[in-house]
Amino acid sequence: MNIILLGPPGAGKGTQAKLLESSRGMVQLSTGDMLRAEVKSGSALGARAKSLMEAGELVPDDLVIGIIANRIDEPDCRNGFILDGFPRTVAQAEALDQMLAEKKMDLDSVIEMKVDDKALTARITGRFTCAACGEGYHEEFKRPAKDGVCDKCGSTEFSRRKDDNAETVKSRLAAYHEQTAPILPYYEKKGLLRQVDGMASMEEVSRQIEAVLDEAAG
Ligand code: AMP
Repeated sequence: MNIILLGPPGAGKGTQAKLLESSRGMVQLSTGDMLRAEVKSGSALGARAKSLMEAGELVPDDLVIGIIANRIDEPDCRNGFILDGFPRTVAQAEALDQMLAEKKMDLDSVIEMKVDDKALTARITGRFTCAACGEGYHEEFKRPAKDGVCDKCGSTEFSRRKDDNAETVKSRLAAYHEQTAPILPYYEKKGLLRQVDGMASMEEVSRQIEAVLDEAAG
């Protein structure tokens, strides 16, 4: 099954994608993670994306479309994928349709995670991850059991995303409302759009997403 998790930054798309990786063996395709890896590696593509990402603006469509087109050709995607952070514009949604048609792949469901803007800033500015294993934490909502030590791997090194600050969050939310939200009607018309309550607990959101997927599987 191939799905899109759609929602503003901080809605919990990454967290839910990781849960689906373990529950269903699907693979998470996060354009944000892929772009951060490009920036870190110092590639030409990363250099094009870096300043836009730091400003909380979207990177050009052709750049992310190219990344996704290459990635979904990899064999692990045949078990089903979860698009997280892509598409983010109508042009990207159209390009995705075209590439799936060419590859004879289907899109089964588009799940919108609905969250109030007010909750997002607190969610985003408090988050940090283990630098060794990538486990996600939050200053308020999910602290490690022992301060400064990762629950999962025991590492004491943590990192924060450069764009997870109050100023950049404003631009990221504006980009979501102006450029990404217009793709909701695009999928609504196709009958693929479903909604879950992104304000609920992580477990409850996960239950709602699993129910949508069970329904889509028939
Ligand atoms: P994310 O990790 O999804 O919050 O993405 C972090 C940043 O990467 C965004 O603020 C954009 O600058 C860039 N980015 C990620 N995915 C896309 C996309 N599909 N289209 C354009 N820019 C993107």
